Amino acid sequence: EDTSIQDNAIRETNDDAITSKFSAVNTGYIKDDFVKFFVKKPARRPPIINRGSYVRNKQLDFLITKFLDIGGSDVKKQIVSLGAGSDTRYFHFKSLSRKFYKYFEIDYPEVTSKKVFTIHKHKELFNLIGSDAKIGKGGTEIYASDYCLLAGDLRKFVEVLVPRMESNGFDRSIPTLFLSECVMIYMDPEDSNKIVEWAGANLISTMFLVYEQILPNDAFGSTMLQNLKLRNIELRGIHAYPNLESQKSRFLSRGWSHAEAIDINEIHDSHIDPKELARMSKLEILDELEEWHLLAAHYCIAWAYKVIDESQKLLYDQ
Ligand code: SAM
Repeated sequence: EDTSIQDNAIRETNDDAITSKFSAVNTGYIKDDFVKFFVKKPARRPPIINRGSYVRNKQLDFLITKFLDIGGSDVKKQIVSLGAGSDTRYFHFKSLSRKFYKYFEIDYPEVTSKKVFTIHKHKELFNLIGSDAKIGKGGTEIYASDYCLLAGDLRKFVEVLVPRMESNGFDRSIPTLFLSECVMIYMDPEDSNKIVEWAGANLISTMFLVYEQILPNDAFGSTMLQNLKLRNIELRGIHAYPNLESQKSRFLSRGWSHAEAIDINEIHDSHIDPKELARMSKLEILDELEEWHLLAAHYCIAWAYKVIDESQKLLYDQ
């Protein structure tokens, strides 16, 4: 097996991700003024994909906002976005006047160099990072007061990336949120688990947020895996964490005190404001209901937290 072909295919999934998000922005599902800068070839996605993007984004933003609210906005917080790709959350939250102590983004240098280029080119992006921002490592990294884009391989998170984050201001003592949006699923579980274990063992107060595929074994799931295989992409994590239970136990068995996991169907049916559902039904007709339910059952959001000081627990539970 040629791993470089597979690594390349995995890097390319980022183009799909941002194109899908842009489709949802363009069709009116999602508000984000920054996605457009990162899209090479806009493409309209089908209604079920746009709705999925909406639900995923809504729930992730809800949980991230909850984290940023812990103890009030004066408490320093940091975010570590694993395999951030072209994600625009930093810019989106900054434009809403949200504050971070530091927002770290990590991806392969092949991906971060494009991000640096795009940020540098558009003042709407660069201005949000601030005028003290410096570009380094041959145009693959950015160091700024509340933002740090690092190039590296998540398979070497503990040995290589943690020291690099620490020399760029990472603080083990403040509340830290890890984001893995369709990222750890591409990694061998032995590698992704090291990140989960390290965070659980070394941070005082931390939260982990995962969005990824589940249910590899039914008809829909095996077709999903086959289609990816044709593109040299393997969901290496899906057999280790194939359902909501195992998505939770990934954390609970590694010292995290609390974990939850729900699929996109449940979020859509129980956690989205009915007014929003009505608004969406005017944007596009969702007539492929059966397909929607199948698709939405195969994606989940899992989140976990761990606190050393039990008094902080309540803050996450609210
Ligand atoms: N999180 C972004 C989002 O949701 O829009 C991008 C998701 S994209 C599907 C997966 C990203 O993970 C790619 O940008 C890929 O390069 C990155 N990635 C996967 N494995 C990685 C690794 N071992 N080291 C660094 N980045 C990795």
